[in-house]
Amino acid sequence: MASRIRPLAPALRTLPRTGVVATTARVPSAATTAANVAAQSAAAARRSLSLKSFFSSRKPKADQFTSQFEPVLEQANLFHPLSKSPLPAVRAKAEWIEAHGSCPVCKEHSPEQKSKAPKYECPDCGYPTHCSEEHYNMDKEHHKHYCGVLREVNEDEHDLRSGRRMKEFEFPGAQHRDEAINLSNWDTFLYTRGFLSMNSERSMRHVSHVLTYPLTIGSVLHQSSPYRLGKDLTVEGLKSLAALRHTLHPAIISGITQSHDLRSTATHTVRIFCLGARAESHLPPHIYMQLAYLFPSTAFQIHFVGPDAIPPHTKSKEPHQHVHYEQLTFVYDSSRYEAYHAEAGPFNPYYDVFFLFSPGLAHPATRDMWKPTIPLLLDTKCAIFGTGFDEQDVMNDVNEIENAGYELDWLMKPRENAFRSLKHEVNLTDVRQSALCNWGIWGIRGRRYDVRPAE
Ligand SMILES: [Zn+2]
Ligand SMILES: [Zn+2]
Repeated sequence: MASRIRPLAPALRTLPRTGVVATTARVPSAATTAANVAAQSAAAARRSLSLKSFFSSRKPKADQFTSQFEPVLEQANLFHPLSKSPLPAVRAKAEWIEAHGSCPVCKEHSPEQKSKAPKYECPDCGYPTHCSEEHYNMDKEHHKHYCGVLREVNEDEHDLRSGRRMKEFEFPGAQHRDEAINLSNWDTFLYTRGFLSMNSERSMRHVSHVLTYPLTIGSVLHQSSPYRLGKDLTVEGLKSLAALRHTLHPAIISGITQSHDLRSTATHTVRIFCLGARAESHLPPHIYMQLAYLFPSTAFQIHFVGPDAIPPHTKSKEPHQHVHYEQLTFVYDSSRYEAYHAEAGPFNPYYDVFFLFSPGLAHPATRDMWKPTIPLLLDTKCAIFGTGFDEQDVMNDVNEIENAGYELDWLMKPRENAFRSLKHEVNLTDVRQSALCNWGIWGIRGRRYDVRPAE
């Protein structure tokens, strides 16, 4: 087994330094911005904890809207028409929608003509939705289907920057090894992990939006996973996860005792490769501690790879490593994956797993970029999990994979992700469209043939 053990000095590893390739990836969504706001708040709110925070040397911004102790917006005053918001970022959003959006009534009535810019703001949700009050009044669909979600997003965004003490972001630290964690859903996870009780759906939306990435990973890999054989997992899926869990839960197999510094004594380092990384790489590292706490005996390397894999609070695309606490090492690399793959190998299905968060495998802007990557991933025989922001997005990716004719096994059939973000993200070019980050999940692996012909 010794040869399978990952090197434990990741900082010394030579990283590929191929040139940065210009990105044609989809424009980072509002998700990135919102996640950062939430993450900054979380970092600020947690400063009293002993955990060495990535931001420990940072002072809170002077910006009046991020001040922790002087609320700027009262809870009863969270709704503002976007163009009149006290938050510059929200006003900028209104301008962006006016510049790039279009009026749905114009579109419907004269599809051959260019529809006019949405300059009229709905008084109920505050979004610029139509070209004029007249067209607004003609649209019966807006209030029926879209206004409620937009109002919610409007108030959530103002709440995030209201300056109130955001207690929901005061996350718990490690817990005793004997305490069982229930990963059935957000509620049971938050309760059994000892999070402060969420007393509003808004708090749940904020927290789920930040934790969806680490918890999507954790809920798949953990022995208390909500995904079960037959219902969600295939037999091949259970085999792949059993291999990873053998590494992730060593205590239940060999009774390995815990040490204080996992990096010097851990017998196992699990590598999680997040390819095409965007928002997930911009999260402050301590958010990922909530993943690490699920596996107290395991050290992790989390590799964020792709043209938009940029560490939080820098703009540098230089390959970068960051060791956070004792259990987590982060690697950021904006190389194309093909170059990275050769350096990062060899891969082992017991220790390595891939996650593709909303990869857009079928999206016209990114499809070609993924084509050389997928066969490399399948060749490793490691588990590969992907997510999508709604049913259509998931099925587009799944169909793309099926139609490509790869030799693969399904590990997890596409299904709703128990740890999707509960927060709607609005498409600013068409505010009638909104999605939930990591709404659905699926899993595949390159096909293994257990019986090989004799040499
Ligand atoms: Zn119009
Ligand atoms: Zn409205």
